[in-house]
Amino acid sequence: MAEETIFSKIIRHEIPSEIVYQDDFVTAFKDIAPKAKVHILIIPNKVIPSVNEIEPEDEILVGKLFTVAKKIAKDLGFAENGYRLIFNCGRDGGQEVAHLHMHLLGGEPLHSKGFCN
Ligand code: AMP
Repeated sequence: MAEETIFSKIIRHEIPSEIVYQDDFVTAFKDIAPKAKVHILIIPNKVIPSVNEIEPEDEILVGKLFTVAKKIAKDLGFAENGYRLIFNCGRDGGQEVAHLHMHLLGGEPLHSKGFCN
């Protein structure tokens, strides 16, 4: 089984975080160091270390990250204006936490912020 990170503690409410959405499969919480007006991380409750470890049986779970992103963007009122979704993978991709996570960035124009998060 894959090793847990700090994100598993967030899922289990063992450390403080601002959770904005949670169900049996997915948790979404505010990034501690926001790079945009709204910066939320959306993660599977199951530990998948990175995109490299996504298996065919995870496809529905990974798809759920997108439907939760869409819901949060709508609920927060910026779905129509648009937003950015990012997955960093591995060292060269700049991934710091080895628990698959989607960055949802929005709430302001992002053109000038470059591609990286
Ligand atoms: P990445 O560089 O793609 O692995 O992104 C990891 C993200 O997790 C960064 O944007 C961090 O600011 C964020 N992060 C790390 N620890 C926490 C935490 N305890 N609560 C919320 N966000 C965190």
